[in-house]
Amino acid sequence: MNGTPLNGMNVPDAHAHGAPGENDRVFRLWNVRDPSCPAPENCFFSAGIHPWDAGKYDLAAFAPLFDSPRCLAIGECGLDRTSDAALPLQMKVFEAQIAESVRRGKPLVIHCVRCFPELLRLKSKLDADAPAWVIHGFRGTKRKAFDLLDAGCTLSFGAGLLRDAGNMEYFAEIPPDRILIETDESPELFEQIFAEAAAMRLLSPAEFAALVRANFRRIFRHDPV
Ligand SMILES: [Zn+2]
Repeated sequence: MNGTPLNGMNVPDAHAHGAPGENDRVFRLWNVRDPSCPAPENCFFSAGIHPWDAGKYDLAAFAPLFDSPRCLAIGECGLDRTSDAALPLQMKVFEAQIAESVRRGKPLVIHCVRCFPELLRLKSKLDADAPAWVIHGFRGTKRKAFDLLDAGCTLSFGAGLLRDAGNMEYFAEIPPDRILIETDESPELFEQIFAEAAAMRLLSPAEFAALVRANFRRIFRHDPV
């Protein structure tokens, strides 16, 4: 990757969909949404019931995936007001995954759309030393960002930084130990997201890479090398 913003640095992508391509040298936490998929080999992943799939799968079917040492997080899971699944059912499925996260000591990767008050209420019931909550693909207002940060959440930023940079100037104010970056559905955008995020923080690529990597290692208890 010489000549790119990454320049050979190991920077983790905290949430990605798809599967590793042959030339993909970025460390990614791949998302597994279907429990009938075998645990991906040679890569690390998160697994869980997406709020759009509430009622579609039994959480017990995910146990073999959760058991894998390559499963670094439960999720993506959460709440979504735009989903066809009824909110009470989504709540039930999400709460079961919160319990799974606590029981297994694995952090949560969270998808939340227009349900932040509900999310904060659930978070407030947990001990401060419960596994981390990573709000994936965050792109809300500064107020929302800081409500989540105050509640102890980590924010993972993706393509929203490229599209909405003007509305996300607060990105520079987020505590450095609460930031991750991710590509979600667009793994090919990793270098652009990384470069934009580093520039918004006024950090060199090496400094920003070190920050993201340290956060990933602490939250997911795995060194992304
Ligand atoms: Zn996703």
